[in-house]
Amino acid sequence: MNDFRIGNGFDVHAIAYGLPMFLGGVQIGSTTGFVAHSDGDVAIHALCDALLGCLALGDIGKHFPDTSDEWKGVDSKKLLRAVVDMIQERGWKVGNVDITIALQRPKLAPYIQRMRETLAAILGTAEDAVSVKATTTEKLGFVGRGEGCEVWATALIYRD
Ligand code: MG
Repeated sequence: MNDFRIGNGFDVHAIAYGLPMFLGGVQIGSTTGFVAHSDGDVAIHALCDALLGCLALGDIGKHFPDTSDEWKGVDSKKLLRAVVDMIQERGWKVGNVDITIALQRPKLAPYIQRMRETLAAILGTAEDAVSVKATTTEKLGFVGRGEGCEVWATALIYRD
């Protein structure tokens, strides 16, 4: 491992009642979900942008435009697999990723381990290379009012 790149990603989705909630490839038990063209998995979207950022490949809006019917309601795991393919095709492997999810409710602790397992399987990494953290914003701002979810992601890739 002597050639490294890092990238960061950020995404926000609005919350509405009666939609499914997906985060980190896992369905969350909730009466609310994310407003989106895709399945709204804001954690995977931020992670995709972090990975794309490692190689200056633009962002997921460029690769999977929300004006395209092809990506309507898409399982975001499919987008992540496509991004991992782009990285591997160029001779790189995912080293580790770190994701922070800001969401007021529901509590995500029961889902974190499944998110790590799900993401590690797609990224081709060990589970201990996939960190998922969740925080509230102490009821402050739009996240705190339950109007939206923000996610930050960092990724490191390497080649031998
Ligand atoms: Mg998004």
